[in-house]
Amino acid sequence: MIKHPAFAIEEWGIHEIELHLDDLPQTESIFALSNGHIGLRGNLDEGEPHGLPGTYLNSVYELSPLPYAEAGYGYPESGQFIANVTNGKLIRLLVDDEPFDVRYGEIESHDRELDFRAGVLRRHVRWTSPAGQSIQVSSVRMVSFTQRAVAAICYEVEPIGAPARIVVQSELVANESLEASGGDPRAGKVLETSLECVDHQAKGTMGLMVHYTKVSGLHIGAAMDHQIRGPKEMTVEAESYPDVARVTIAARLKPGERLRIIKFFTYGWSSQRSRPALHDQVIAALSAARLTGWEGLLAEQRAYLDDFWRHANVEIEGDPEIQQAVRFALYHTLQAGARAERRPIPAKGLTGSGYDGHVFWDMDTFVLPVLTLTVPRAAADALRWRHSTLGKAKERAHQLGLKGAAFPWRTIAGEECSSYWPAGTAAFHVNADIAYAVVNYIGSTEDVAFEETVGLELLVETARLWRSLGYLDEIGQFRIDGVTGPDEYSAIADNNVYTNLMAKHNLYCAAEAIRRYPHVAQRLGVDDSEADSWHEASEKMFIPYDERLGVTPQAEAFTEHEVWDFASTPPDKYPLLLHFPYFDLYRKQVIKQADLVLAMQLCTDEFTLEQKARNFAYYEPLTVRDSSLSANTQAVIAAEVGQLELAYDYLAEAAFMDLKDLQHNTRNGLHIASLAGTWTALVAGFGGMRAHDGTISFAPQLPEAITHLTFHVTSRSRLIRVEVATTQATYYLLEGLPLKTWHHGDEIALSVGKAVTRPIFPVQAGPRPTQPPGCSPIPRREHRV
Ligand code: BGC
Repeated sequence: MIKHPAFAIEEWGIHEIELHLDDLPQTESIFALSNGHIGLRGNLDEGEPHGLPGTYLNSVYELSPLPYAEAGYGYPESGQFIANVTNGKLIRLLVDDEPFDVRYGEIESHDRELDFRAGVLRRHVRWTSPAGQSIQVSSVRMVSFTQRAVAAICYEVEPIGAPARIVVQSELVANESLEASGGDPRAGKVLETSLECVDHQAKGTMGLMVHYTKVSGLHIGAAMDHQIRGPKEMTVEAESYPDVARVTIAARLKPGERLRIIKFFTYGWSSQRSRPALHDQVIAALSAARLTGWEGLLAEQRAYLDDFWRHANVEIEGDPEIQQAVRFALYHTLQAGARAERRPIPAKGLTGSGYDGHVFWDMDTFVLPVLTLTVPRAAADALRWRHSTLGKAKERAHQLGLKGAAFPWRTIAGEECSSYWPAGTAAFHVNADIAYAVVNYIGSTEDVAFEETVGLELLVETARLWRSLGYLDEIGQFRIDGVTGPDEYSAIADNNVYTNLMAKHNLYCAAEAIRRYPHVAQRLGVDDSEADSWHEASEKMFIPYDERLGVTPQAEAFTEHEVWDFASTPPDKYPLLLHFPYFDLYRKQVIKQADLVLAMQLCTDEFTLEQKARNFAYYEPLTVRDSSLSANTQAVIAAEVGQLELAYDYLAEAAFMDLKDLQHNTRNGLHIASLAGTWTALVAGFGGMRAHDGTISFAPQLPEAITHLTFHVTSRSRLIRVEVATTQATYYLLEGLPLKTWHHGDEIALSVGKAVTRPIFPVQAGPRPTQPPGCSPIPRREHRV
């Protein structure tokens, strides 16, 4: 838990004004820099002390066997783990005889700032060594959004009060030693990746290393170069060994004199390219970085982010802390996906090794809706990655005796890596989640080329899976038995409503889309009878309903199960997964995360408002939120059914998941789905936005404390700005052709230069639902600063 008010409340950054060593593991995640290709944890420049050193390249992983005490047919045999690659951010400093290490001597002042508009991490420290020499160190670190192979640091050191001998060692280091992660299954194994060196060089101001991962066989190249400005009396030396390349700069500085080092470092990796090719690739990236120069990189970064914020900015009046948190959330969501380029967006982005660096449905269901409406190119790239793994998903389906494609529950390279099949293989909904993201992306962008070459095939192969996984029963209902829905405290249930509704949508959209593209249908071998069978399954999809209670059960018979004994479950027994056996959780009514409630968000037209309110009231007292993927969904539905204060509390929970380390595991990396969900809680929750199948609509209403909410979305090449106040909302079309949208169900026409204002009549809410004892969200109104 981040125990102190470490972060000042600012609009456009996270500013840490005191250094607390106990919080380093968390702040390394919070201050992580990434462009979706390279990820640098926010480790101190000098490397130590640290919580977890971390440098990641998207999809660079190592393999290790998945051991089973009792193996079974179809169990995945090999696990993939994100590799900690060559650390290029390391800059060690010697002040006279003393290494600069914040654990020794005195820190006179410290501040670090992650700047969301400049796209850099700044650090200023004033430190006095145990021998009494004071220095000022400043560093500015960036991972470039515009040159995806490039990271850079501007490092400056200056003695205070007396002259000093300063030695700076700028390094590339491979095979750093990492601490083991303890027993939490969410932490990830933190494998000490052993990288084998195949090339190392150092000359002048440059260094280079090429390594490979021993089992997965990936080559990783890293190179660095420096531009140095300092006093006349200065030496520069370079040396390299198999795991270290080092450029050492020694200088004698007087007070007022400064040593300034700009370090460019670049990365590349490949499973196919040769060592010389990778060597040349990272050297070439260095040349491009030098050509642009430090100031040029800063200017490019700023321009990239100006454009991002023009499309994605959210403004809030009434809660400055949430204002800061939503920009933090958007910034990290962007970092996770911006330049992933046909690679996945893992659950932790590239901010830590939690969940072994795996991607889950988090990407398709929680992250892509945000990117689709703010940075659509990044959403397309992520789906192209799914498409690139289709061959593996088809093989997996075949192995399971199914048709079409069975995408993995968790993976890095496309193979199933979950060794726990009830919450892995059986969570087939991931396939419909991907299809939903595809339909949403195509609807919001009208990207026909994507639809033809990528989208359709994903829809077809997932539809095939559903058609073979479910069956028409004797009374003509299409049933999907024995699967696991989003709630991981239930497993292998019949007709999970979320799964069935999402599969229904998947089947319908596949059947409709394929008819528009007969030549693609032919290429994919889809004939009319197959498309008809998808239509039929979709139409006849069985959606259970509990007449007795008047609620939709999460799965067939769910509402008949015994309710978990919440009264006898003390707070220290949460998360339940760490204290109770799954068999007991599975047979009781206790919900880890929004499941049916998520179905009500994504399949909004399948439920009336009244039914949504009834269902929400039923599921709230059962939902413990042991997953960070829940609060944002509960915020959206709470807002829709008029529980605005509860929605506000859930919004805060999603927003502060990492800034306040609410799940005590931010050290392992950020919760990217929850961060993306912060935007969703605001835009889909209080903005009431629903974007699906090409239409976009709004139904805004605000909680008392938020007096204004403004956001931007891009749909079908139109940039829309929505300004919500307590009693009215105003819609602007900032760019693009006229557009039809809806305000609380009333059609409105938008065109550039013509704002449309409509009144808001709040939804009449029933009594506020309750949560299991000890599981209520923190009341936001009472905890505002
Ligand atoms: C959740 C899953 C999620 C995973 C990764 C689990 O705790 O239950 O739904 O995909 O974390 O974030």
